Amino acid sequence: MKRHLKNYGKGPIKCRDYLFKKLTEKISEKDFTGYTIQYPPLLTWDKLENKICKEWQKISPEDKLGIYIHIPFCEQKCIFCRYYSKKEKNKKVIESYLRFLEKEIMMYRRYLANKQIHSLYIGGGTPTIFTLQPLAKLLSILKSNFLFSEDAQMCIEVTPQSLDLKKLLLLKRFGINRLTIGVQSLNKNVLKEVGRLQNPKEAIKLLGIAKGLGFQTVNIDLMAGLPKETLSSFKRGLDKTLKKNPDMVHIHPFYPIKYTEFMKSGCYLSKCEMDLRTKMCELADKTLRSRGFCPKKFDAYGKKDDSRNIQLCDAIENISSYIGFGAGAVSHIRGSLRYVNHNDVCKYISCIKKKVPPIMKGINLTKRDEMIYYLTACLRYGYVLKSEFRRIFGKEVTSVFSKELAYLKKRGIVHETDEKIVIKVKNIGEYLVFSKYFYDDEIIEICKQHMDKLNIPEREITLDETRYMCL
Ligand code: SF4
Repeated sequence: MKRHLKNYGKGPIKCRDYLFKKLTEKISEKDFTGYTIQYPPLLTWDKLENKICKEWQKISPEDKLGIYIHIPFCEQKCIFCRYYSKKEKNKKVIESYLRFLEKEIMMYRRYLANKQIHSLYIGGGTPTIFTLQPLAKLLSILKSNFLFSEDAQMCIEVTPQSLDLKKLLLLKRFGINRLTIGVQSLNKNVLKEVGRLQNPKEAIKLLGIAKGLGFQTVNIDLMAGLPKETLSSFKRGLDKTLKKNPDMVHIHPFYPIKYTEFMKSGCYLSKCEMDLRTKMCELADKTLRSRGFCPKKFDAYGKKDDSRNIQLCDAIENISSYIGFGAGAVSHIRGSLRYVNHNDVCKYISCIKKKVPPIMKGINLTKRDEMIYYLTACLRYGYVLKSEFRRIFGKEVTSVFSKELAYLKKRGIVHETDEKIVIKVKNIGEYLVFSKYFYDDEIIEICKQHMDKLNIPEREITLDETRYMCL
């Protein structure tokens, strides 16, 4: 793939807000990885040469390498879910997936055998859909094939309905030290409406048990703006959750995209419901801050810095590599590639049977891509530190992005201090639109090819247009 138009940045930057709004919607509609920050976007990825295993050999010993495992099965598909997972109840199918996962790990093992692993993240789907024995097997495979550092963060995502005391004890025994419990809501009507099987009382009880067992970090995921959630039921759920003293609380606003069952069945959120979602987020912000939580850099609300998801934080603040195993798993090789495995279990298994890496598509990375990723990911959290940019890339952020910064400064969207570049946006939609001014023209052009023919005016967008965007 040819990268970076030679003429990029020669002319003045024009107002492309409306185009970027449309692109944002298209990009999120097609992205099943769940990433809100992905550069270049998944939409622009293509077939890759089969040289990937060896690329892993080249990563530097300083790279804080992480391992991501994707378990793409759930007992039920929640209507709000934007991650790649499928409903599967047949235990034999689920257990046989483990065999292929192990084979995939063995394909890469020799290239990674001597590298120290800084973080493990087992996500999905529902990793705890495995019964005790396969869950123990998965953890043994990982421990026996990789060299985890002594202080490695070992995370797993769990759902209350797939968890019990025995599984918690097993996770503890295998060194899991960070749990992410997908509570989402404690309102029975909401859970029924969104197709989530858990019992709210059981969920709260498990939260208490998990805390009692002494996992280093217990992170709770809650959603704001789900169908049938009211402001008072949301508040009650948050209060009950906080009584169990979690270390971190992640509030996910419900943004339905075409990929979700919610939209596939013809539903949409009214403006009124979106405003209610905003109110829930504001209420959560106020409540969490009053209980000693604050937004942690590159992550959610927490009390301590070490509660953060280290793999995600390393991927941003150190541009670290992580290798994803399993159907739909994403990988990043610093300075080289981003790629994703087939997000179809049958295709994934068929590749492994043929002894080829199960990669669907990817993109070669340039240094500028990594810079854009870093800058836009930092701005998602409000600002980028000039000294950090210099530390990572050996260049000045103000020189590399001089034109883009001049344009956005003129519009009052960013401002510069001696230490940082700060973005001033009122919602995530504005951030997603304005951060695209840093994207390369070639990437924008490739994204545009995926859009229907549109009359794209060169105009600014209103606050209402970003507030009600479909992300
Ligand atoms: S349990 Fe989690 S991964 Fe599975 S469908 Fe629900 S939200 Fe998605």
